[in-house]
Amino acid sequence: MRTNLSVEEALELVLGEVRGDLEAEELPLREALGRVLAEDLASLVDHPDQDDTAIDGYACRQADTLGASPESPVRLRLIGEAPAGRPFPGRVGPGEAVAVYTGAPIPEGADAVVRVEDTRREGEGVLLFAPASPKDIRPKGDDLKRGEVYLRRGDLLTPGRLGLAAAMGHPRVRVFRRPRVGILSTGDEVVEPGEPLPFGGVYNSNAYSLLGLVLEAGGEPVLLGKVEDRPEALLERLEGAGPLDLLLTSGGVSMGAYDVVRRVLEERGEVVFWKVKQQPGGPLLLARLGGLPVLGLPGNPVSSMVTFFLYGRPFLFRLQERTDPPYASLWAKALTPFRGAKGKKVFRRGVLALGEEAVVRTTGNQSSGVLRSMAFGNALVVIPPDGEVREGERVEVIPLTFVP
Ligand code: AMP
Ligand code: MG
Repeated sequence: MRTNLSVEEALELVLGEVRGDLEAEELPLREALGRVLAEDLASLVDHPDQDDTAIDGYACRQADTLGASPESPVRLRLIGEAPAGRPFPGRVGPGEAVAVYTGAPIPEGADAVVRVEDTRREGEGVLLFAPASPKDIRPKGDDLKRGEVYLRRGDLLTPGRLGLAAAMGHPRVRVFRRPRVGILSTGDEVVEPGEPLPFGGVYNSNAYSLLGLVLEAGGEPVLLGKVEDRPEALLERLEGAGPLDLLLTSGGVSMGAYDVVRRVLEERGEVVFWKVKQQPGGPLLLARLGGLPVLGLPGNPVSSMVTFFLYGRPFLFRLQERTDPPYASLWAKALTPFRGAKGKKVFRRGVLALGEEAVVRTTGNQSSGVLRSMAFGNALVVIPPDGEVREGERVEVIPLTFVP
């Protein structure tokens, strides 16, 4: 077992536990939002499928319209119309025009369009107060070319990408199944909300904040409830957990006599590392139980969320082969000081505001037992080991993209 790792070393070991391909499943587009593509998607069509107009107006021959102006309009003979989806069957000859509407194919013979605002209908004809131009003609394949791959395995399906898949002609997509993530809370004092709280009890908040984080990372949470701090109880629950891709436990990984998670995993599994030089979340543990990777998250509500975000989320991204990074950082001006810690990388919770200049202030009480810092903070403020941030200094921040 390794111990006292840097954040970077710990992350590498966690990612090293990702193995095997997740199976894929086929879903109709309407069920695929937030899923990750397991296949490359090539366009089945050209879009537009022929040259079409980007505006409402009149298609004609540009040469007929040169010099048209409000003072000396050009008159063309109107020979028909082409709404979107109903191409004009004939041909545009010299001195002729066809009324066209956005998305309609450019009729044969025409090479330019004048916008409707620069025209006036007059009897069988139309007056042009400006020359027609080819700039509002969208060439065939301008948007999508048949056979070209626009979405790739590992791409998260966002609203725009669902639309793109549809635009390419795909009614269904192959996506990875969602990884199943067990969530088990440990602690004699932990009580489910809704039950009376005994003296010294604490409601099981970790199960729900972790459930949220797992869903947000594309996983399928499997709530395993809570177990007392007894090795037999813990083992029994783990054995009945069913198939999982990752197990999260919370609590029981510190130095105390009742910290049974570490002891059980040492005896029954294999502990890869314990303790990372970071705050909050220092007692984090990574183990294997059979073939199952286990992240032993510290019990404090902020610690369990921060460690899942820093390690569990990247694990799930890698497992789903996601092409986008699990988090990214930017720099902001600190509006309040942030304390660091000796020998530890520190992740304070802050409120980040983006404007002409990014600024970040503390959420207030930074104790790892105060969950409000994760409920209302929208960023982690990163302070390197032995560092310290004074008001006005620039600091690295990692946005928590799921908090507004
Ligand atoms: P532990 O890591 O087991 O030493 O727990 C550290 C702190 O987190 C203690 O104050 C626990 O009461 C609290 N805690 C542990 N598990 C949970 C949980 N599931 N929900 C909320 N708080 C918890
Ligand atoms: Mg405990």
